[in-house]
Amino acid sequence: MSVHDKTVAELSAGLAAGEYSSEELTRAFLQRIQGPGNELNAFVTLTEERALEAARAADRRRAASQAGPLTGVPMAHKDIFCTRDVRTSCGSRMLDNFISPYDAHVVEQLNAAGMVSLGKTNMDEFAMGSSNETSYYGPVKNPWDTQAVPGGSSGGSAAAVAARLVPASTGTDTGGSIRQPAALCGITGLKPTYGRVSRYGMIAFASSLDQAGPMARTAEDCALLLEAMAGFDQRDSTCVDQPVPRYSDALNQDLAGVKIGLPKEYFGEGLDAEVARVVDAAIEEYRKLGAEFREISLQNTALAVPAYYVIAPAECSSNLSRFDGVRFGYRCENPQDLEDLYKRSRGEGFGAEVKRRILVGTYALSAGYFDAYYLKAQKVRRLIRDDFLAAFNEVDLILGPTSPTVAFNLGERADDPVSMYLSDVYTIAVNLAGLPGISHPAGFAHGRPVGVQLIGTHFDEARLLNAAHRYQQVTDWHTRAPEAFA
Ligand code: GLN
Repeated sequence: MSVHDKTVAELSAGLAAGEYSSEELTRAFLQRIQGPGNELNAFVTLTEERALEAARAADRRRAASQAGPLTGVPMAHKDIFCTRDVRTSCGSRMLDNFISPYDAHVVEQLNAAGMVSLGKTNMDEFAMGSSNETSYYGPVKNPWDTQAVPGGSSGGSAAAVAARLVPASTGTDTGGSIRQPAALCGITGLKPTYGRVSRYGMIAFASSLDQAGPMARTAEDCALLLEAMAGFDQRDSTCVDQPVPRYSDALNQDLAGVKIGLPKEYFGEGLDAEVARVVDAAIEEYRKLGAEFREISLQNTALAVPAYYVIAPAECSSNLSRFDGVRFGYRCENPQDLEDLYKRSRGEGFGAEVKRRILVGTYALSAGYFDAYYLKAQKVRRLIRDDFLAAFNEVDLILGPTSPTVAFNLGERADDPVSMYLSDVYTIAVNLAGLPGISHPAGFAHGRPVGVQLIGTHFDEARLLNAAHRYQQVTDWHTRAPEAFA
């Protein structure tokens, strides 16, 4: 088995056994990124020199018997995470020239664990999108079929892991951006509970929804990464001060008697019939592992997408007001006066989808409409959260499809924002409720990967990872590689 086929856990074991050095691994993955991976457009920036330096430092640390489980393992960061002295573009022309002066908390944590970052992955502009087509750097291609989108907004991170260009990556999820691309690329992605991972240094889209998480091939690898990423950080006032469990120690609990709810709203109209068949087969596997299923109802599910598309744009219109051409980021040529500077810097720096969101959000927050839209959406958000909390009085986990369809073709939904927004019908409510969710590979439909989503109650990541790991021990969907990248 070549190194690029190995999981984080396997690479960690190989490094510990001295089978290869971190420098050798780093060179091997860099070669894949620049070779077969190049056509995917998964990376915006490669940091080759820094990566080799970090790898050599990791090897020295190991020689001094100071290595942890992640020391020397290569990975990549979504380009939404600030990385000191490295361009941090957030997929936007606005930040194309932005060299961050500091590291995001997540970057600090994974550096401290000894991971070796190879570069920054492509993404939808400011994480707004479900297909990676809104990136200033062009779309990412799905390694399973280069006609298809990888999903978004963490499309570069998902494609890079699926194509074995890196064993793991970071992503962020505001309405589905870790889980949906994980599903469409056939990998595993975990969106933690809101507050589990610090948002410090993560460029803000919708602050009450944004959360960082790991993307890898297996639940076990996600557990290892989350252990390093999570933890209290006082620089994010919504980060919760709660001990980080040893997720990787709790993966083998028996699933006998675990109660899983199937929301009837997640299996209705709009769900592709072949995707539904794959989900049914996954339910059967979980049943064999001892889980008990029952139908539940999350009755306000249909309101999640409309509420999200008021709340997320409202928060983004406020967050993105800082990009004014004055202090950092894009500045237009020869501004006539201050107003011209603002207008043209923003007009030229932002792409169409970002502008659409800013317009919608500013409208929803304006004095005359605040109560009718923003306040109403916040009330709906509470109802959605209450539905989940009521369900978790009856069940331990909730299961359903991650996305209603498999990966669609590039361009197919680009001119139809509503059909694009509906890509996230099963993931968005989870963010509105602040819950953790994981997507793992469960098979194929129409020749493209299908993901199953498990949702847990607040801070119940351990149970999600445990369930997905048990499933992955009796199935091999997560080991499948796209033919062109095997
Ligand atoms: N696709 C959703 C959106 O466009 C979610 C994006 C995300 O999670 N960052 O807003």
